Parts: sequence; C-alpha cells; structure tokens
Amino acid sequence: MAHTCNNFLMTCIDFRFHSAITDWAEKQGITKDFDLVAIAGVQKAILDDDTRNAAIKQLHISVRLHKTRTAILIAHQDCGAYGGSSAFANWDEEKAKYTEDLNEAEKVIKEKFPELQVKKMILTFDENEKVEIIEV
Ligand SMILES: [Zn+2]
Repeated sequence: MAHTCNNFLMTCIDFRFHSAITDWAEKQGITKDFDLVAIAGVQKAILDDDTRNAAIKQLHISVRLHKTRTAILIAHQDCGAYGGSSAFANWDEEKAKYTEDLNEAEKVIKEKFPELQVKKMILTFDENEKVEIIEV
C-alpha cells in the first residue's frame, strides 16, 4: 500500500459534520488520499497562540511522512470555537469572519510550507440540515 498521499485535511472536532465531510471527500475523489486532523475551530486553532504549534506540527508530520501537497481547511457555520452563530449578527458577518481567519491561517501555513497549496472551505447548512461545502 502506498505510504504517501496528496492531501492534509483539517476540520473542526464538531461531530455534526463528520459524515458530511466524508461524503464531500468521496465526491472529490480523495477518500483514500488524505491525512485527517480534527481540532476545534480549525482556522482559529492555527491562529491561536495556545494551539498553533500543535496544529502546525500535525501538518509538518503529514508533509514529511506522506509528502502531502495540499492542505484543506474546512471551517463550518455555527462553530462553537467562535461562540456559534449567535455570536454574529447574521450569516454574512459570520462567513466574513471565518473567511478572514482562513486567509490568515493560510498565511501562517504558507510561511512554513511555501510549496503547499491551501484550499479554504466553509461548510454551511440550512434549516433542513442540507449541507454544502464551499471554497472561499
Ligand atoms: Zn467548530
């Protein structure tokens, strides 16, 4: 079995979205082609002094051992690490904050791994729990 893979996928610990993310990965054709890390708040964890090193260390190991080329960060709507959706006036404000932090997290990653491609995604859901994962 090959011991390399192309993708490093980092998502939140939130149990509500794991199956949706697995389904999304299958649609992307990367089911057996990603290292997986779950850390509360993803992009926030990369920016936070208390958790940055732990998050980046996982990426470092993935790149060194498995030669990963793409880091996929999947943020999600109603993230408890931000206080949930109720911490924002509306979805536009919430999405803007996640996007801003994803962009900052990408800078942190690119500083250490300039050769890596970084894909920034946000998982959203509606009142019927229909999930969508969009690239930002
Ligand atoms: Zn979360």
